[in-house]
Amino acid sequence: MIEDRKGKFVVAIDLGGTNLRVAAVTFDGQILRRASTPTRAAEGVASVINRMVRKAFEVIGADHLKQAAGLVVAAPGPTDPWTGTIINPPNLPGWVNVPLKKELEARLGLSTFVANDANAAALGEYHFGAGRGTRHMIYVTVSTGIGGGIIVDGKLLLGKNGGAGEVGHMTIDMDGPRCACGNVGCLEAMASGTAIARQASERLRAGVKSSILDEVGGDLSLVTGMVVVQEAEKGDRLATEIITTAATAVGVGMVNLVNLFDPEVIAIGGGISNAGPLLFDPVRQIVNERAMGIAKEGLRIVPTVLGDDVGLLGAVPVAIAALNGG
Ligand SMILES: [Zn+2]
Repeated sequence: MIEDRKGKFVVAIDLGGTNLRVAAVTFDGQILRRASTPTRAAEGVASVINRMVRKAFEVIGADHLKQAAGLVVAAPGPTDPWTGTIINPPNLPGWVNVPLKKELEARLGLSTFVANDANAAALGEYHFGAGRGTRHMIYVTVSTGIGGGIIVDGKLLLGKNGGAGEVGHMTIDMDGPRCACGNVGCLEAMASGTAIARQASERLRAGVKSSILDEVGGDLSLVTGMVVVQEAEKGDRLATEIITTAATAVGVGMVNLVNLFDPEVIAIGGGISNAGPLLFDPVRQIVNERAMGIAKEGLRIVPTVLGDDVGLLGAVPVAIAALNGG
């Protein structure tokens, strides 16, 4: 149990495939100091851990080790949240069964906890963002992939192996496109930035006219979900059609979640959520049309509010839950 949080902070590490971001975060969500460095996962586990340790000491500062209540790493899943092991994340090649909690505790002497990055973000948004004041929230991030976290009665749903809340891998179309996870018709395979870019490229290759092609100078390899969002916002017909189809798939996914979990808030973030009403209007409409009456009563579907720091801020509720033995 944390007896006195005053003057204390959590050392948060957001271990991304590209960048490693570290911050000292107070219990009320103020970032005191921050540092970052490229992850460079290809240099190997030991090298990345060395840099994590160095940056952690940097944000702790010379005289503040006593004020550090614990360390939380938000890492790409799958992770084992109980042993603090990184299992085999697709975007950290070579990281197979890395006992990160053990390694960092030995090096820093701080109680360390490892959370799946989407779950840490869900807790951050729940504690400090769109979920404030609620007990039941679902967080969804629609970016290159689709991830999320489910909070039921104030607690993150982990499941028996820590694998719960993979909202991107709900089956939406049982004969749909192949997903990176091996299944077919997952939400991620239909509505992620990667899926949106793939659909746009296929249509452009088939000769459909669109401002997307001008935007990438005719080079289909430069088509991304964000480019399609941007052209849809300008009114391009193909881009709008693709975003609407993706939003429809997200809406169907949300109907499933609403009927299963009866949340107060669904908070949707990630780059594709920058599409704003182009995404949110179809999602709200489909949920309104299709979800069970009792579950959609009082439900809010809103954009996330924390932005890029969500993983760092999520370290605080992860630490509170872990240090309190929850
Ligand atoms: Zn999948």
